[in-house]
Amino acid sequence: MIPHNRPTFDQMEAAAASRVISSGWVAQGPEVEAFERELCQFFEIPDGHALAVSSGSAALYLALLALNGKGKKIGLPAYACAALRNAVGLIGGQGVYLDCGVGSPNLDPSEVDDQMFDILIAPSIFGIPTHLPNRSNLKIIEDIAQSFGAVSSGKRIGLRGDIGICSFYATKIFTSGGHGGALISHDRSVIDWLRDYRQFDSRDDTNLRFNFQMTDVQAAIGRVQLSKVPDFLERREDIFCEYRASGADMLDSKDSSDIPARYRAVIKTPQANDMIQALHEIGVNAIVPVQDWELLTSPENCPRADKLSKMTVSLPIYPTMLDSDVGKITALIRSFK
Ligand SMILES: *Cc1c(COP(=O)(O)O)cnc(C)c1O
Repeated sequence: MIPHNRPTFDQMEAAAASRVISSGWVAQGPEVEAFERELCQFFEIPDGHALAVSSGSAALYLALLALNGKGKKIGLPAYACAALRNAVGLIGGQGVYLDCGVGSPNLDPSEVDDQMFDILIAPSIFGIPTHLPNRSNLKIIEDIAQSFGAVSSGKRIGLRGDIGICSFYATKIFTSGGHGGALISHDRSVIDWLRDYRQFDSRDDTNLRFNFQMTDVQAAIGRVQLSKVPDFLERREDIFCEYRASGADMLDSKDSSDIPARYRAVIKTPQANDMIQALHEIGVNAIVPVQDWELLTSPENCPRADKLSKMTVSLPIYPTMLDSDVGKITALIRSFK
């Protein structure tokens, strides 16, 4: 069976993990610091503006904590990962759900205004850069868990809001050994505050803090993976182009100046279930990327998201896919017209 997704490792990740284990220091330490510096380089921000944490969910929660999310109205799309709802719940915020835009898995910024909520969580779903509302009072958390390395207006996304969050979970663009996440911001004071919060041990005050740390083993794997991101993105783009060339109606950015990160290759089709079934029969695991029952609010409150969830097929797209596997899939897609 060709899996829907699979992380890309070679001996380099194993060597990095082994080096850390042999060093005798495996908890948060110099590897995490180096990983944070390399994340800053990737996003072209000064040192000290990135913080590595235990997961993308932790990063989301911490972003909400830094923005005083407790009791606030927090906007989030209905067509998104449950991690968003979980983080809003954990902080004690009041979720206000947004529908998808027309023909897009992302929110529609023209449907957002400052009065609706205090904080907006804005993910770029499937790697397609979201557009953001103009804001005056609204705080924005840019969630690039699915879109690490995507470019909009000539810049890598993630820093257009107040805080950006990343996930390095096993299925994402790259992984820090299974789990991991990060926060990035132009505002150094926010990152400094969170850095303090993350470091709970040996403190001489009684302020509440919590352990959301990444280990040096994770960071060492993450550093190797981060160095491969340009290659990963290029291979994913090649596969995406093959699928598109087969004539499928692919969900994509509507702004031709955007460079999406091809986290998911999603076909829009009224025959979604038939196509998934046919792919299974030839040994390919395709899935519905967001099922209608996975929407974060009831379908009647987000009719466009509901409709989208019923007409999507997510195809395997990961760097180690063989050309022959891609060919097998494109042949089947062609037969579907
Ligand atoms: C995966 C994901 C997260 C959560 O990240 P974890 O590292 O799995 O906790 C948050 N937001 C979005 C959009 C995601 O896809």
